[in-house]
Amino acid sequence: MTDQDPYLLTPGPLTTSTTVKQAMLRDWGSWDGNFNAMTADICQRLLAVAGGEDSHVCVPMQGSGTFAVEATLGTVIPPGSRTLVLMNGAYGQRIGKILTTLGRPFLAIDKGDYHPPRGDEVAAALTENPDIDQVVVVHCETSSGILNPIDEIAEVCRQAGKRLIIDSMSAFGALPVNVAELPCAALVSSANKCFEGVPGFGFAIIERDLLAASAGQCHSLSLDLYEQWQYLQKTGQWRYTPPTHVVAAFQQAMKEHQAEGGVAGRLARYTRNRDRLVAGMRELGFQTLLVDQWLSPIITTFLSPDSPAFEFGRFYDAIKARGFVIYPGKLTVADSFRIGCIGQLHDEQIDAVIAAIAEVCQELGLTLPVPAPAEAPDNLQSA
Ligand SMILES: *Cc1c(COP(=O)(O)O)cnc(C)c1O
Repeated sequence: MTDQDPYLLTPGPLTTSTTVKQAMLRDWGSWDGNFNAMTADICQRLLAVAGGEDSHVCVPMQGSGTFAVEATLGTVIPPGSRTLVLMNGAYGQRIGKILTTLGRPFLAIDKGDYHPPRGDEVAAALTENPDIDQVVVVHCETSSGILNPIDEIAEVCRQAGKRLIIDSMSAFGALPVNVAELPCAALVSSANKCFEGVPGFGFAIIERDLLAASAGQCHSLSLDLYEQWQYLQKTGQWRYTPPTHVVAAFQQAMKEHQAEGGVAGRLARYTRNRDRLVAGMRELGFQTLLVDQWLSPIITTFLSPDSPAFEFGRFYDAIKARGFVIYPGKLTVADSFRIGCIGQLHDEQIDAVIAAIAEVCQELGLTLPVPAPAEAPDNLQSA
């Protein structure tokens, strides 16, 4: 990165390495053998990280992560089939919006902003609604930073004989997941989160048998993952123009992921970032929205100072002037902001952002410490 670029303490796009950026300095033809080999290589690497080499296939999809989520839901869920959606934030709600748009029926368990969906309530909903075929859950709900208990939910799905679909957009690559062991029918993620690539495509890791049985089901021409998979198998090429530079950057990013020690190495660095950040912020008088048990090593939500002088825009600008970009809150109940731990961030940047925030609080006259959060009620809704 250059001296004048701020560090992005955001959940993606995020700060990438210089070598990832340099991988984009060449042009590739979308039909070219070298480019096709790159696509095959990243898909193979992703399958290995997911533990799905014997059971699953990896299919990339152009666009942001949401395009890949919509493609996956539209491709593998038959039109009349009912889904249970576990919601506790904006990304779970987005899954509901996608299913509504696609005209796929679903039931939602909505836990509000900061409670995790638990195995027992999923089991109860599946017993009461035997017509449900699949459950969709967000792995790390990036809107609060909560880490949802996917092992517990996967076990309930396994026992009930339901397929599990995971939006692991902001977790895959840093949190261990084994799609064959969980088991998980489909896992969706994208290039610009924990693998530290640049934005431009997402991908789904789908049970081979499930995808093979999904022909003709998709509502969309361009988002049909079955057709994308067939075309890739036949030609080695993406069905429509691929984001060539993004794929080249991603291959470099995956090599760097492996060199850092794969998922375990990345998890260790992100956890260290998170622990250092939370400790430093608490020392300044900030409160995390969540108790420690549910804090993810991806992004942390802090409650905003309870000061008439606090205005997120001014807070953001003053921190940015010191070289760091933070993220606004995405909660319905509490005024908050978020700080990400992912991307090319190390002790030095974490310490520097805490020092910057301390200075900004002084400069803007913000009152610390911040008071503790209020509770929000749970609710169950049906659509
Ligand atoms: C980033 C993210 C997405 C996808 O968002 P896009 O803006 O479409 O890339 C989906 N789910 C979760 C949990 C995310 O963090």
